[in-house]
Amino acid sequence: METIGHFINGHFTDGENDGMQPVYNPAIGEAVAQVALARPVTVDLAVSAAAAAFESWSSQSALRRSRVLFRFKELLEKHRDELAQMVVREHGKVLEDAQGEIVRGLEVVEFACGAPNLLKSDFSDNIGGGIDNWNIRQPLGVCVGITPFNFPVMVPLWMIPMALATGNTFVLKPSERDPSASLFIARLFKEAGLPDGVLNVVQGGKEAVDSLLNHPDVEAVSFVGSTPVAEYIHKQASANGKRVQALGGAKNHMIIMPDADLDQAASALMGAAYGAAGERCMACSVAVVVGDIGDALVENIQARIKKLQVNSGLAQGADMGPLVTSEHRDKVSGYIDKGLQEGAKMLADGRNYQVAGSENGFFVGATLFDHVTPEMTIYREEIFGPVLGIVRVNTFAEALALVNSHEYGNGAACFTRDGGIARAFVRGVKAGMVGVNVPIPVPMAWHSFGGWKRSLFGEHHAYGEEGVRFYTRYKSVMQRWPDSGVHGSEFTMPTAQ
Ligand code: NAD
Repeated sequence: METIGHFINGHFTDGENDGMQPVYNPAIGEAVAQVALARPVTVDLAVSAAAAAFESWSSQSALRRSRVLFRFKELLEKHRDELAQMVVREHGKVLEDAQGEIVRGLEVVEFACGAPNLLKSDFSDNIGGGIDNWNIRQPLGVCVGITPFNFPVMVPLWMIPMALATGNTFVLKPSERDPSASLFIARLFKEAGLPDGVLNVVQGGKEAVDSLLNHPDVEAVSFVGSTPVAEYIHKQASANGKRVQALGGAKNHMIIMPDADLDQAASALMGAAYGAAGERCMACSVAVVVGDIGDALVENIQARIKKLQVNSGLAQGADMGPLVTSEHRDKVSGYIDKGLQEGAKMLADGRNYQVAGSENGFFVGATLFDHVTPEMTIYREEIFGPVLGIVRVNTFAEALALVNSHEYGNGAACFTRDGGIARAFVRGVKAGMVGVNVPIPVPMAWHSFGGWKRSLFGEHHAYGEEGVRFYTRYKSVMQRWPDSGVHGSEFTMPTAQ
């Protein structure tokens, strides 16, 4: 069986001294490879390689660094389909969706290619007494990325291009559930001319993560994953004096106002709730229906669910693939059981879903619950599966209060034709990413991605300008040359004159 190992200091290794864990193809339900689980000694090799490469990489001009990114971008475009197939084999999502995530990652590479401009500073000429004042942003050192299974290409590409463009070196610890894409990315960077040690990949689980969080040579940690782990990473890395951004889980709501275009809202909900089998941090898992449109909306969605194609991600016409592992499938099925026990009205049941020819695949069909209430477990917790809950309320104010009182605040959307409602929603909603008639408002590469409340721990959102800030330290410089220093000692605060 193939072994998926590490990429350290420009070389691929099998991780012969590490533990091993199977990697599954979720569409057929069989182990197709094994992945190494780095022990501390392997992690140390990766961090040491990154530390050794920092001096030289950070001293290169931003333009030279961005040239490597330009070459990487071309290679990623060339190999996009091969990489997408790899993602489908280990993650299960449908092929077009995998291609889409690569494009969203590629856009961050394109943004990072502008490194010289991104690192350009502000300059204040002659703030007084012949002194000039300007700022520079300098790289941190060895940065670490710890990423989830659901976007094995896009999420690492939220981090790597930004960290490298700004002059840092990097160690990626991808999800052990779909690890192959990370090595493919590393291979393309090597081919693009990235010097050895600048990017390293260590496979593994908690032991590898803890070694990274405790390593004295790691300066910063970017994490994306579930909220309990995000909170742990934030606490642990902060306690060890590292800069940390930890993006967590979500329960994204879509408010549907009585004046909304119902067909448009139902169509948007289908993609947002069931796309990628609900395994997206921006998936919409709660529809908050305002007024008396509930029955019409529910009928519309039910008709669409009947036509939904659930199949292997490589099958022609598939809308939705399997869940990532059998454990996750069972967890999602358990939530559906719980929804029934707690009194939600089930309108579509995805449990025990069988796909002809893929009987052992980890499938759950589209599941729909109506009359969900805020006390129910299926409302409160992130399910991360194809389960949509409908909550009915009477007014916009009730709907907004519901969204705002949820513990998560990643994304939120409102479907309406009323500009006043849209404006009140945008201004009043407590979420980091907001859509008006847009179901999944994932910001473009030159804006920044991140949630509020327990969807993000730390100060900075990912990529865009926030990404530049996260991966650099700010330095303010004041300079005066001797020929202007003729005024003698100064005992008061320098002020602009
Ligand atoms: P996860 O938290 O289980 O794992 C994420 C990473 O943390 C993996 O690399 C994993 O190896 C590591 N990890 C897992 N348990 C750990 C532990 N106890 N200690 C240290 N490290 C540990 O998440 P997942 O199941 O891979 O991904 C799904 C979750 O990620 C969902 O909650 C989803 O909402 C979230 N997510 C959030 C965003 C966002 O931008 N906010 C984006 C994508 C996914």
